[in-house]
Amino acid sequence: MNNRLELPISEVKGIGEKLQAHLNELGLFSIYDLLFYFPYRYDSYEVKPLTELQHEEKATIEGQLISDPVVQFYGKKKSRLTMSLQVDQFAVKAVMFNRSFAKKQLNAGDTVTVTGKWDQHRLQITVSQYKKGAAKSQEPIQPVYTLKESVTLVTLRKVIKAALEDYLHEVEEILPEDTVLSYKLPKRQRAIEQMHYPESRILLKHAKRRFIYEEFLLFQLKMQLLRKLHRESTMGNAQHYDNERLTEFVQSLPFELTNAQKRALSEILKDMKNPYRMNRLLQGDVGSGKTAVAAIALYASITTGQQAALMVPTEILAEQHAASLKEMFGDRIRIALLTGSVKGKKRKQILNDVKEQEVDLLVGTHALIQDEVDFSRLGFVIVDEQHRFGVNQRRTLRDKGLHPDVLFMTATPIPRTLAITAFGDMDVSVIDEMPAGRKPIETYWVKGQMTDKVLAFIQKQIQQGQQAYVICPLIEESDQLDIQNAIDLYNQISAVFEPAIKVGLMHGRLSNDEKEEVMEDFAANHVQILVSTTVVEVGVNVPNATVMVIHDAERFGLSQLHQLRGRVGRGDQQSYCILLADPKGDVGKERMRIMTETTDGFELSEQDLKLRGPGDFFGRKQSGIPEFKVGDMVHDYRALETARQDAALIISEDLLEKDEDYRALKQIIEQDEHISGQVLD
Ligand code: ADP
Ligand code: MG
Repeated sequence: MNNRLELPISEVKGIGEKLQAHLNELGLFSIYDLLFYFPYRYDSYEVKPLTELQHEEKATIEGQLISDPVVQFYGKKKSRLTMSLQVDQFAVKAVMFNRSFAKKQLNAGDTVTVTGKWDQHRLQITVSQYKKGAAKSQEPIQPVYTLKESVTLVTLRKVIKAALEDYLHEVEEILPEDTVLSYKLPKRQRAIEQMHYPESRILLKHAKRRFIYEEFLLFQLKMQLLRKLHRESTMGNAQHYDNERLTEFVQSLPFELTNAQKRALSEILKDMKNPYRMNRLLQGDVGSGKTAVAAIALYASITTGQQAALMVPTEILAEQHAASLKEMFGDRIRIALLTGSVKGKKRKQILNDVKEQEVDLLVGTHALIQDEVDFSRLGFVIVDEQHRFGVNQRRTLRDKGLHPDVLFMTATPIPRTLAITAFGDMDVSVIDEMPAGRKPIETYWVKGQMTDKVLAFIQKQIQQGQQAYVICPLIEESDQLDIQNAIDLYNQISAVFEPAIKVGLMHGRLSNDEKEEVMEDFAANHVQILVSTTVVEVGVNVPNATVMVIHDAERFGLSQLHQLRGRVGRGDQQSYCILLADPKGDVGKERMRIMTETTDGFELSEQDLKLRGPGDFFGRKQSGIPEFKVGDMVHDYRALETARQDAALIISEDLLEKDEDYRALKQIIEQDEHISGQVLD
């Protein structure tokens, strides 16, 4: 980078000591910082006919003062100035607060241009800016920056303008000429200028496009480079598994793997064989057969004489996994279950068996990462529903082995490049095909509360031998209310159906024994309707259940609704999902519509991401989700994908080292603190 741009902002005309301190608070230290402090929004003051204005939106109006402005004073130094403006054939009221001085400048008959919030019903505008005279035909687009109280917008605009005037010509291009030409990007100097003072919406769009690409490319280059360096420096566990035993196990399964499962499995096995540590995310919709693939992979590791661990987010799920894996494996391997509710002597025994390698596979919850758990030879780790665990929890489990291969699983699949971007150093495998013969779940949206029709529908299904889940309204503010709600709903449903049909209740406050009992009763069809909070959300598998009713469905995100819905449709009967919802806003309505239209988890999580934005979607647990200044990894997904491919090419062809056109990019990347610690060439 050019050295003059590294100078402190105090070098810029008009920035004194005090202003410098205030700008520092905004994170602006160097001239470079100032030039790259881009607006988050732009205002433009185009005059439009009144009929085209939007209620409650910002608008600019030009009109003629019908009479002199009127000022009223109130409170301490507060004032309200009212003007009546003739705009076309309408009289519009313009109100301006605490600027009584304007009365002196404006007189009846003057033409005035005002900007502010428009009230369509009262034909009134609350003025934030005014100007005597007509609007210019081509009003400039004005930048709006993120500010703190100590710096005003006017000041910031002024200093950025000054910085642009004196220093813009010092900014160097960093992208290779060919890239700029082939993507038709504006040059860097020109783009900076347009970001701050766009000459038109189109030029602004291109300037943004340039910086989005630049930002994504730098990110991808750094990420991919780090991964390459990491791979080459960390030795892992080359697992030379017993192919014969593995084949025997695969052939013993009651089904043939789908092509997608085969592909994912071979990617995983390849990782296991090589001496680098596997760090792979297995994505696939609910029921796509991830667990089957994971079971084969962990068996491969066990045939090398090592142990495996499977960590899941809830006890119910841990129990189910342990049971179904025991059935799959028969006496091929020794499986133990460790959860918070395994206590006393039994716990001691299990811990001891794990240590002495009397256990090959340990299935469990967070209990697995406690200090007391000590493996003899942990070679393979699986984390199911990985987004439910924090980064540190996942790392703790991994560190219980010596370079174990790690497989993460998620039933909230997102586009591949997004997954790689969001989850940093993971490789990604995708199961994008369902086992044959599955009937898509029919989903209906019923407005409001439980109706007789819905109750009758549940009854009919139960008479045909099926079972139903009813999910309670969600009350996030209070655990206590949540439970009470579940109990109330349970009482209501029981009153309708008992004693002919048995109703069960499940919520987070039940003891583990109680939970287990409820689930067993439901699995054995001793209970036909299970009223539950969202604790059944992940993984629970009762194939005879064919109806899922969700109260207050508008309160859940799409991914969560999809997870809940995934509790049915697990057998060969047609299944149904009924969403009880009265969404007020458009987003809620949109969610219900999407749910009724698709059962494809990939599509749903993409829509969810779009509706909620990446921050909310990934949640706080996933620290390490990159923050971009200009780009948005969801909205600008295509640019992210392009940047990923370009970065891969640059690295595989070693262009940073070999091609002079990439010198500037190389310099920036070498300045990165993570990379500079390692050897680049
Ligand atoms: P996931 O973990 O992705 O939700 P599972 O591995 O639990 O999916 O599989 C869901 C159900 O489908 C299980 O009952 C499993 O036995 C069955 N299954 C898995 N793979 C296949 C396949 N290739 N063909 C038929 N059924 C399968
Ligand atoms: Mg699963």
